[in-house]
Amino acid sequence: MKIIGLTGGIGSGKTTVANMFRELGVPVYVADLEAKNLMNTSKVIKRQLIEKFGDQAYSNGELNRNFLAAKVFNDEVELKKINNIVHPKVKEHFEKWLTKQTSPYIIKEAAIIFEHNRQHEYDAIILVVSDKQKRLERVMKRDNSTREKVISIMNNQMADDVKIPLSDYIIENTTIEDTKIQVEKLHQKLLES
Ligand code: ATP
Repeated sequence: MKIIGLTGGIGSGKTTVANMFRELGVPVYVADLEAKNLMNTSKVIKRQLIEKFGDQAYSNGELNRNFLAAKVFNDEVELKKINNIVHPKVKEHFEKWLTKQTSPYIIKEAAIIFEHNRQHEYDAIILVVSDKQKRLERVMKRDNSTREKVISIMNNQMADDVKIPLSDYIIENTTIEDTKIQVEKLHQKLLES
């Protein structure tokens, strides 16, 4: 079974594209979502996060997202500590999930692949790109966020120009209709390859 990575910058349309693959019957694993779930449900993660960041990492048994976000804000070292705790568990969870799938290929949606040099974990990588202005408007609307906040996140991410040559397939998320056509074509290609 082929493992196809699906990545892209903030608001590029990863989730939108992932849902289109899902509609075609392709199993989709959303790494960020599973990471969030595991941070609340895995005893090992919980224990390790409390060891590293203190009791405040959780409040009433629930992950204290704001506390951790403030800890890692602009701090690569602290962020790495969280990733080192969470990533191995997500990997384990993904591998277990993978054994239950029966399709010719699966999609793993992950915001970060190239940034952590994880491209070797995939048979091929799809990059979703979209006009920067559109991304900005869509995320501001979706998250009720300010222009400055979205721009600062965008500026902290690896640029599309760097990711394009590293990717196997590019989906240009323009209109929903056009993107769907690209997804259907790619789906056929992936089934044949
Ligand atoms: P993030 O990196 O923040 O998780 P993402 O890459 O998963 O974002 P989406 O959530 O799929 O991006 O898209 C961002 C927003 O733009 C969503 O509200 C989505 O509904 C909307 N959107 C995505 N693609 C299109 C499109 N082609 N036309 C109109 N709206 C779109």
